[in-house]
Amino acid sequence: MTSSTTDVGADLEGRVTGPLLRAGDPSLAAEVAPFNRARTPRPVVAVGATCAEDVSAAVGWAAMRGHRVAVQATGHGLTSSLAGAVLVTTKRMAGVEVDPVARAARVGAGASGAQVIAAAAPHGLMPLAGSSSQVGVVGYTLGGGLGPLGRRYGFAADHVRRLRLVTFEGAVREVDVDREPELFWAVRGGKGNFGIVTELEFGLVPVARLYGGGVFFPAEVAADVLHAYREWAPTLSDETTTSIALLRLPPLPEVPEPLRGRFVVHLRIAHLGPAAEGAALAAPMRAVAPALLDVLADMPAAALDAVHMDPTEPMPVRERGATLTGLPAEAVDALLAAAGPDLDAPSLVMVEIRQLGGALARPPAVPNAVAGRDAAYSLLAVAPEDGPASAVVDRLAPWSTGGALLNFLGAATAERIRGLWSPADLERLLAVKRRHDPANVFALGQPIDG
Ligand SMILES: Cc1cc2nc3c(=O)[nH]c(=O)nc-3n(C[C@H](O)[C@H](O)[C@H](O)COP(=O)(O)OP(=O)(O)OC[C@H]3O[C@@H](n4cnc5c(N)ncnc54)[C@H](O)[C@@H]3O)c2cc1C
Repeated sequence: MTSSTTDVGADLEGRVTGPLLRAGDPSLAAEVAPFNRARTPRPVVAVGATCAEDVSAAVGWAAMRGHRVAVQATGHGLTSSLAGAVLVTTKRMAGVEVDPVARAARVGAGASGAQVIAAAAPHGLMPLAGSSSQVGVVGYTLGGGLGPLGRRYGFAADHVRRLRLVTFEGAVREVDVDREPELFWAVRGGKGNFGIVTELEFGLVPVARLYGGGVFFPAEVAADVLHAYREWAPTLSDETTTSIALLRLPPLPEVPEPLRGRFVVHLRIAHLGPAAEGAALAAPMRAVAPALLDVLADMPAAALDAVHMDPTEPMPVRERGATLTGLPAEAVDALLAAAGPDLDAPSLVMVEIRQLGGALARPPAVPNAVAGRDAAYSLLAVAPEDGPASAVVDRLAPWSTGGALLNFLGAATAERIRGLWSPADLERLLAVKRRHDPANVFALGQPIDG
């Protein structure tokens, strides 16, 4: 049973402490404004949750009335317009506590990577943060969470110790390996398909500094740099995590002058070892050609964002991702044909290849549902509209594993998402789904159940 948009949620209003906003409310747009501006969220109701009880009341209410439920922390991963859904926003639940003795952080659903880094760094500790610390910790971690320390320490999801989850009937569950082993396995990698996480506890790693940053090369040497990278990357140990991106940078003042308005190749390196060792490792790549800008240096771990230099202002992005079996010369040639400087595709903002392997390839101490461990590289293409990004992924299809990292898949059908897991893991995920969300209330985001 659903109500008209003017009174929808009237019976929920007194049961939540945070704001309740309906379609047509002038404050709704600001409440739900996502980082990713490719889509505008149009929920029927948004609940600005302040605590687990708010989340529980909103989910239970929505499920009783046949609404689907979506959750948004920062809107970096918005994949649909959420039409007709009840949207729980979590930005008010952004508490972060660090226990330096237990080497652990406990965060609320709305915390960003930057908040955890700021709390952990004074203790010489780091989360397994991603390329941009503005991204929400919970969404990033549940989708796997691949960052610049990944080849040494694995996925962020591998470090989760406990979580609190609101399931479809509004129940608040304590989930860890002892209390809810199947749910614990599934949520760490299966993302928002099982409920809304209100609190997440995860391990931190002892990293205070690293040798890292980026080197930007001009368009004229794109082929030389990419071919050098495919030979160099496989020689690196697990202490070094790298990626390489083809960027079409806008002519904006916030882009450093030598890069402004240009096509560039951006090599990213994060090396957990002495600076001299890192510089020696980077030497063969630096020798390929003179750089436009070279910001590789010894750096505090808290400055990890400097490795990728991701955009910080909201922008429209449609992402398409795939995982690759390898990066032979033919794949590099295909990449250059699909995204290189000779291609007239001004909207193709970024195409990046991240090197996987190392700890990313090994199952964690407590196994989880993170897909993509079998791949050698991850491919991600980003553009304001679907076409250009999809074309790149299609062109690299001969080297695709058939899978993708869930966080880099973008909007996709349930069928495509289900294809990320082995048949056995998919069956296990779907069994957890049938048990904990039988009516498919959490069908938005990146659904495993059509
Ligand atoms: C600039 C940029 C850089 C990125 N860098 C990386 C990277 O280095 N590595 C990487 O792995 N990914 C990266 N991503 C992808 C990112 O991790 C995913 O898009 C992630 O889902 C974003 O989470 P969010 O909460 O910030 O976004 P939101 O749009 O708020 O949420 C996206 C989805 O996360 C899930 N989710 C969020 N909160 C909860 C919750 N409380 N309970 C259950 N599910 C929840 C839901 O499925 C939701 O639909 C990047 C994305 C961008 C735009």
